[in-house]
This record gives sequence, structure tokens and C-alpha cells, in this order.
Amino acid sequence: MTPVIILGSGMAGYTLAREFRKLDSETPLIMVSSEDGASYAKPGLSNAFTAGKSADALAQADALKMGETLSMTIMANTQVSAINTADKTLTLQVMDAPPGTDNSDQTLEYRDLVLAVGASPITLPIKGDAADQLLQVNSLQDYRVFRDRLEQLGADTRIGIIGAGLIGVEFANDLIKAGYAVTLMDLADYPLPKLIGQDQGQALQTALEDDGVVFKMGVSVAEASFEGAEIKLGLSSGDSASFDLVLSAVGLRPNTGLAKQAGIECDLGISVNQLLKTSADHVYAIGDCAVVEGHFLPYVMPLMSEARALAKTLSGESTLVKYGVMPIAVKTPSQPLCILPAQRTEGTRTEVVDTEDGHVIKTLGSDGELLGFVLMGKAALKERMALSKEVPDLLS
Ligand SMILES: Cc1cc2nc3c(=O)[nH]c(=O)nc-3n(C[C@H](O)[C@H](O)[C@H](O)COP(=O)(O)OP(=O)(O)OC[C@H]3O[C@@H](n4cnc5c(N)ncnc54)[C@H](O)[C@@H]3O)c2cc1C
Repeated sequence: MTPVIILGSGMAGYTLAREFRKLDSETPLIMVSSEDGASYAKPGLSNAFTAGKSADALAQADALKMGETLSMTIMANTQVSAINTADKTLTLQVMDAPPGTDNSDQTLEYRDLVLAVGASPITLPIKGDAADQLLQVNSLQDYRVFRDRLEQLGADTRIGIIGAGLIGVEFANDLIKAGYAVTLMDLADYPLPKLIGQDQGQALQTALEDDGVVFKMGVSVAEASFEGAEIKLGLSSGDSASFDLVLSAVGLRPNTGLAKQAGIECDLGISVNQLLKTSADHVYAIGDCAVVEGHFLPYVMPLMSEARALAKTLSGESTLVKYGVMPIAVKTPSQPLCILPAQRTEGTRTEVVDTEDGHVIKTLGSDGELLGFVLMGKAALKERMALSKEVPDLLS
């Protein structure tokens, strides 16, 4: 039998493999990954210091164990360099093949191919001899390198974080709780500008400042250069700031290169319909690389729904993905926060209800219907379930 091939060993790839095996134990299943194939929960990367977890502790199982458990062949440390949708084949390149072994390109045939290739960190166009020394954490291996560097540098390490989006604020909170000196920088005037309003952003900033995080907002980083062992960042404000380690967290961009090269339609990510099918027959996409009926949702809950639906389709029961209401729990214990983003259109308005330690901020439509919310503080978080029930499903 020609195999189903999953490209990528992230949460999307592994969730699909598990769901598929619940329904079909016969069809050969192959996973190809440019990583080592360890299964781990990526959200754990941005609170692992306070949880006291090393990269090895975050890994739930290695490729060997996962392959056995799911009766699947895992080709780890293997890059797919091309897809031929007419022949239904992939071209593979084994990375870091040991000397003397065959590392020439191989071809693999698929019955169905699932692209679960994720998203890659955006790299800022920064000048200077330290520009390529800014760390990015988007995989277990990245986290291993980051943690090893911090262990070498010791407890007094000054860490600069570029980017006050979700990943930047979560790392800032984690690292400040772990005792490091943290400075958070962003072009925006307040943290999480794409997800919350100015007042809530200021409240989040104040809570993190109370715990010791230093904010430099409204600045962009133009240059990174070495001064001895320090990295000196040149800021657009004309100031400079020196750190022992700099983390860049300015966003992720879906990996579309392989799909585009194969002639598969892409916009921001790989475009798929509600069956999660791309413009090419027998090729599907899920997770951070996919844009589903115009929705780009780089979070865990959507990829779980996608994996469950696609597993059924691949097992012979065509199934549309459905999204319910999926609030984002931000891992900032300094300021407990949960966000259900809402489209603001003409006629939408905001209603703020104060609680004992925060606020419930509702986005209401022109008929007063609830479209989204921001919950700040522990008391507000208790409203999450009740409010979620009032909001219509995202994709039914
Ligand atoms: C620090 C951090 C914290 C987060 N916290 C949360 C949270 O609290 N809640 C939440 O909902 N979401 C969170 N997210 C987002 C969530 O983790 C992602 O949506 C999810 O992990 C994406 O999984 P994925 O499998 O689509 O992609 P990835 O995990 O990026 O996996 C992609 C895989 O594809 C492989 N690959 C790519 N190209 C090729 C190729 N050409 N050949 C072979 N293999 C290839 C890669 O090696 C990798 O194995 C967080 C993300 C980060 C970075």
C-alpha cells in the first residue's frame, strides 16, 4: 500500500498521526521531519524556566518511541526539498548524514500528503556583527541552545527581548520569575498591541514592571554589535542598551516555500478549504503553516480540530473542520489574561466591567451580541466558560 505521509513532527503532525491511528491501523504511515522527531508540547517552551524544565524534560518521547507507539516510520533529520504533485512524490535530503552513508536525494511516493510544516521566526533586518547572534526559540532544539547559554552565563544574566507580542511577553514573565534581568523592547507603545487595547496593554506592562521587567517601548532595534562579550543594541531612539543575551521574538511566518515551489496556492500561509485540502489533489495542510478558509490561527486548539477532521477524511469519511470558540490563555502569571479576539467592524463597541482584581472587556456587535472578550485578573478568568458559550462558533 502506498503510504500517507505527514511532513513535520510538531504538534500538528503528531496529533494527526495519533488521530489517524485511532481510525486506521493498516495504512502505512510515514512522518518526515527536519527536526529530531521528539514529541513535545511547544507552549511549554515559554514557561519552562519557572516550571524548572530542561529541553530533555519537555520531550515527551523520542522519534523511536513515537514510531513504535503509532506504528509509523519516522524519518528524522530529513528535509523535504521538493514535492511533485503530478507524480505524487517527495524528494528527501538526509541532513548531517554520517560520513560514508548515502546522503544523496531520495524519492518517496505518497497516497496522501499532509503538510504540517509550521511557521518560522521572522528575522529582523538588523546591522552589526552580533546581528546573527540574536536567539529565536521556536523548537525544542532552539530552547536547548537558549537554556544552555543561560546556564553558561549564570544568574545575573541581562536578557534583552525584542518583540512584546505573545511569545515575547510570556518569555519575559518566565525569565523574570526565574531571577534574570529582563528588558522588553517593541516598536509599539504597549505590549500585545494586536490582541488588546491600550488600557489593558498598559495594565499588563505595569504588572510585569512591578515584577521587575524593564520596558523600552516605541523603539525599533537598528543594530546589534559586540562590545567584548556583551551585545549592544542600537535603538531608533538614539539610545543603546547592552545585554548578555538577546532573544528575538518578532513573530512567525508560515512556511510556504515548499508548497509554492510545487505550484500549490498560498496567501499568508498554505491555502486550504474546510476539508483542509490544498489546491493540489491528495495534498492537505494543517497547523501553523495553513490558512483555513481565510483563517490563520497559529494556536493549539485549532490544530487539534484540524487533525481530528483530517484523520477522518484520510480514513475514508470526508469531514469538514469546525472551529468552536477558542480563547487564548496568555501565560503571564504576573497579570492573568485570556483573550478571544474579535473582528472590529463598523457598529462594534466595547463594554468594560470592573472586577475585584481586573476587568472583563467585551466586544459587542451592533445588536449587542458578544463577539469577543479580554479577561484580565483571576476574577475575570472565571467568566471564560460562560462568556465563551455566548459567542458564535468561528467556523461551523
Ligand atoms: C514559545 C511558544 C509558546 C506558545 N504558546 C502557546 C500557547 O500557550 N497556546 C497555544 O495555543 N499556542 C501556543 N503557541 C503556538 C503553538 O505552539 C503552535 O501553534 C503549534 O505548536 C504549531 O505546531 P505545528 O506542528 O503546526 O508547527 P511546528 O511545531 O513548527 O512543526 C513544524 C514541523 O515541520 C518540520 N518541517 C518544516 N519544514 C520541513 C521540511 N521542508 N522538511 C521536513 N520537515 C519540515 C519542522 O522540523 C517541524 O517538525 C506557542 C508557540 C511558541 C513558539
